[in-house]
Amino acid sequence: MGKKFAKEIFHGICRDLTHEGKGVVLNQSNDPVFVPGIFPGEEGDIEITYKRAGALFGRVVSLSKTSPDRIDPKCRICSSCGGCCFQQYSYKAQLEYKSKKVKEQFRKIGKMDVDVLPTVGMDVPYYYRNKIQMPFGKDEKGNVYCGFYKENTHVIVPVNECFIEDQRATHILQVVKKLMKSFRVDPYNEDSRRGIIRHVLIRTSYYKKQVMVVLVTNVDVFPSRGNFVKELVKECPEITTVVQNINSRSTNVILGEKERVLFGPGYIEDSLCGLWFQISAKSFYQTNPVMTEKLYSLAMEAAHLKDTDIVLDAYSGIGTIGLVASRSVKEVISVEIVPQAVRDAIKNAKRNGVVNFREYAADASDFIVKYAKEGGKIDVLFMDPPRKGSDEKFLNAVLKLKPKRIVYISCEPSTLARDVAYIANSYEIETIQPVDMFPQSFHVETVVSLLRKQRE
Ligand code: SAH
Repeated sequence: MGKKFAKEIFHGICRDLTHEGKGVVLNQSNDPVFVPGIFPGEEGDIEITYKRAGALFGRVVSLSKTSPDRIDPKCRICSSCGGCCFQQYSYKAQLEYKSKKVKEQFRKIGKMDVDVLPTVGMDVPYYYRNKIQMPFGKDEKGNVYCGFYKENTHVIVPVNECFIEDQRATHILQVVKKLMKSFRVDPYNEDSRRGIIRHVLIRTSYYKKQVMVVLVTNVDVFPSRGNFVKELVKECPEITTVVQNINSRSTNVILGEKERVLFGPGYIEDSLCGLWFQISAKSFYQTNPVMTEKLYSLAMEAAHLKDTDIVLDAYSGIGTIGLVASRSVKEVISVEIVPQAVRDAIKNAKRNGVVNFREYAADASDFIVKYAKEGGKIDVLFMDPPRKGSDEKFLNAVLKLKPKRIVYISCEPSTLARDVAYIANSYEIETIQPVDMFPQSFHVETVVSLLRKQRE
């Protein structure tokens, strides 16, 4: 949290939205103040609440003019929890914002003026998340609560019902809270570093009736663990596996190294684009199953795959994109850094009877440099890096390998724009297609289709 201010209120108009969905309102000195929960064209009294890295942040005290795009949110706490900055913004306006944001990031960071297609939206933009992770706390009366951290703080905003998560998770969290109280399994306290449960992570399968609960604990062994789990699966028969993850470090990272399966197989299964996938606790899996199928089919379309193609799926997670592509090409090579995800990918290939697929456990940049050195060949590259994007080492090797097409899938437009600009001399942008994987939030997923320029 930044520096506190003496109360300062001013009246202003919201001019724009930032890439993090905050309204931009100019104060009397014409300095921008970043304010959540106010939309372009709206006017109101704003209180400046803090300053961070030279920027001013505020909150809406009252609105005197509201936007026609303002709607009643489903969730009462959407303005304090920080997860859904757009629940009060019409879905149409959210989708328009996302395309505009991608264009802006290409202009600002990539220094490129690009056309961006309208964002593909979700028919019912609620209850979509198949993964939630929540920290826990305890009030003076000994009642356990869980929720989300208030933005830029470690203060938990208690959440009883979340309108973007799978409803099975809502029920399980109620039972976990009740059992923690009755078994005296205390939430972990970051200041005293005492207590047991740090986070609970729940993963739900969309197509199969399977649910994974991961209890992230501060200690390896805790009293009544066996009975706690027994009672949990008795009260929630929808749970098919329970994993304990031990994280005793003082860190913001949720999952620790060590894991123990307490119930069931230690993974869940789900289906995507007609294939089956096994998903372990630490493996990445897209969080919006309905939109993932749309995303992947757009990515396949953008790739124009041929049965003679050699494909590289970089940053592959559990092998989803590569396995979907394997049906249309000669061979798929896939690379991923998290060992659990690599193991899942190998099993997923076997389980789906895919034989033209190889998965490597490595840093994508190290792998591709070596592959290029050894005279490897790639016709089509799928790359889907984490938010921080790829790096020059990876992109330089791509420029050497000269794949005919690149399909870049990204959850962070700023690093996407940076990376695309880096290879823009050799690759022409065919389409930039945002997909709304994260309705009600400011986040957006984008598929960029790139074609190698002829003169290369
Ligand atoms: N394509 C997958 C996963 C995308 S998420 C899907 O659609 O589900 C990005 C993935 O990149 C994660 O699985 C993460 O573990 C992996 N990753 C992160 N850094 C990496 C690196 N340096 N090299 C290879 N993989 C990496």
